[in-house]
Amino acid sequence: SASLADSDPEIARAIELELGRQRDEIELIASENIVSRAVLEAQGSIMTNKYAEGYPGRRYYGGCQFVDIAEELAIDRAKRLFDCKFANVQPNSGSQANQAVFMALMKPGDTFMGLDLACGGHLTHGSPVNMSGKWFNVVSYKVRESDQIIDMDEVARLAREHKPKVIVAGGSAYSRFWDFARFREIADEVGAFFMVDIAHFAGLVAGGAHPSPFPHAHVVTTTTHKTLRGPRGGMILTNDEDIAKKVNSAIFPGLQGGPLMHVIAAKAVAFGEALRPDFKVYARSVVENAKALADTMLSNGYAIVAGGTDNHLMLVDLRPKKLTGKAAELALGRAHITCNKNGVPFDPEKPMVTSGVRLGTPAATSRGFGVAEFRKVGELIVETLDGLAKHGEEANKAVEESVKTRVHELTKRFPIYG
Ligand code: PLP
Repeated sequence: SASLADSDPEIARAIELELGRQRDEIELIASENIVSRAVLEAQGSIMTNKYAEGYPGRRYYGGCQFVDIAEELAIDRAKRLFDCKFANVQPNSGSQANQAVFMALMKPGDTFMGLDLACGGHLTHGSPVNMSGKWFNVVSYKVRESDQIIDMDEVARLAREHKPKVIVAGGSAYSRFWDFARFREIADEVGAFFMVDIAHFAGLVAGGAHPSPFPHAHVVTTTTHKTLRGPRGGMILTNDEDIAKKVNSAIFPGLQGGPLMHVIAAKAVAFGEALRPDFKVYARSVVENAKALADTMLSNGYAIVAGGTDNHLMLVDLRPKKLTGKAAELALGRAHITCNKNGVPFDPEKPMVTSGVRLGTPAATSRGFGVAEFRKVGELIVETLDGLAKHGEEANKAVEESVKTRVHELTKRFPIYG
């Protein structure tokens, strides 16, 4: 049959343009990464043709013997990677992994606790616009205003007062370690399940560059496409057989139908890659690079939320420079440095404007950037944003053009998908 370029030139062109963008720009979106060719190949494979409702060995369709190999490998590798007893690799996304745990452990109207979205939590941790916020009674905990770090005494106080069924740790824009042991202690005291959503830092846990949520967590959810560097998707992990059974039923038939077997094959490939020794080097490098980038921003007068980073990301608070996140994202985008505007804790600006940008190191580290390159990236960001603060948007275009030239010098030295 015809190639994509022959059968659908419009989509072929969009993909070609996107490849060019990924090659030329410095990707600092903290939730993104650059997968291997092997992951791409598995995900683009004929396993997309197969229906396989159910679980390996217990399917509702015939002809599942080969997709079973892929799913069993994915499960086995996930368990080894995170040192746990049960893994469900079928969630189509991180959001569905979280929904499944909520469905397994709660009934609509039950109470759970999660980190406030405005303080770095995720939408699925109880935002009023999300199903988690509409169908459950949410008690959000926040970071302290003084140091922007989670106040564990406040978490304990809220838990005693509200007696949640589930307490969720983990988030999308929190740059410090989580006190998993203390969270579990609090959960035990009030009889709650302790869930950790490691979507952002899963790859760091897998690579030994971040504390593991086990043995503290009752259940762990994650995406597979961020620091873990796999295909887009989700996963649920636990050591508890009863929770594992409930989670399996919640994913199928509770929430999903046929699992995406091509994506599960690609998850297996990514987990295999993460089990190799060089992934440890990668994970350590992601963290070192984030520290180098944060230090460069700090030494140039930029504020970092919570004072710095323990993981792969940081939130730059632009208020001292009198810039908004929206203006900064656009200016950096014109210079081919890609990031996202992000609210800072207790942000006075609206969500579409914000006072911050979120920067992360996983993608550029995958293409080979080290500490020297990330210091350079920091300097290029400072040059662009200082220019914006000083000259305003129109007059800063010349600075942005000049930075873009130097961005391309860097990205050319570290080619992807060559
Ligand atoms: N949980 C956390 C902490 C996240 O950061 C994200 C993604 O941004 C998700 C869950 C949701 O993942 P997905 O976008 O795959 O639904």
